[in-house]
Amino acid sequence: MWRAGAGRVGLVPTMGALHAGHISLVERAVRETDAAIASIFVNPTQFGPNEDFAAYPRREAEDLALLETHGCAAAFVPRLAEIYPPGDATRVVPGPIAAPLEGAARPDHFVGVATVVAKLLAIVRPDAAFFGQKDFQQLRVVQTMTRDLRVGADIIGCPIVRDPDGLAMSSRNAYLTPDQRRDAVALSRGLFAARELWERGERDAHVLRDRVRELAGREGVALEYVSVADPLTLAELVAPSETAVITLAARVGKARLIDNVLLGMDVADLR
Ligand code: AMP
Repeated sequence: MWRAGAGRVGLVPTMGALHAGHISLVERAVRETDAAIASIFVNPTQFGPNEDFAAYPRREAEDLALLETHGCAAAFVPRLAEIYPPGDATRVVPGPIAAPLEGAARPDHFVGVATVVAKLLAIVRPDAAFFGQKDFQQLRVVQTMTRDLRVGADIIGCPIVRDPDGLAMSSRNAYLTPDQRRDAVALSRGLFAARELWERGERDAHVLRDRVRELAGREGVALEYVSVADPLTLAELVAPSETAVITLAARVGKARLIDNVLLGMDVADLR
């Protein structure tokens, strides 16, 4: 058993095409556990029929080299049949936390996410697993799922890593042309402008949302939603007092991008 004597094991689930955001999770796992394991699996069940499963970037050799450089003890790169064996029919259906936002835009997405994460946790049996704030609702779905199913692994949320101009790093940024890449910076500008209002005391969700729309909704950027919600439940808020999360999704060219800012709390406070 590889696990015997490994001490505390940390898992970083990814879909590969690794960038500095993924590496920040790996570094955290290396620092906080005795053996960091990254998984690379482009999970078909979390993609809709008209989404980018086939086009999703795949760079396994480069990814494995990066993981080794950054101190991963092992990489787990399962074949399809290891995760979905013949006859596989069981799904993990998350509760209301998965209903709004990405759940509304991408039917069954979070069933696919919760199912694959449950399987990865069952196979690797880590003490802790590290997820990015970038996919904020995913982090909350996974934290809720592991709590409800008594999985027993700590689900650690890690801050968003951004390019120097503010764009949140994403494997899907590879779909952007240079012009679209310039347009995409409007998303983080909108979120940061709303955060500034919050820091000056603004608590009206309408005003915060409008500020995001004002800056982010420019030519070349098709906003799908801008939400001001409770970071624990993702229920929409009218006048948040203590904490909130502003999330957005937008299409820029062929890419569907998501981003968020947490207000009044740190992602590390979420368990
Ligand atoms: P993915 O490969 O897109 O499924 O992402 C794997 C993990 O990396 C997820 O927990 C993501 O939230 C996280 N992640 C992706 N992009 C970033 C980023 N820019 N900063 C921090 N974490 C990220």
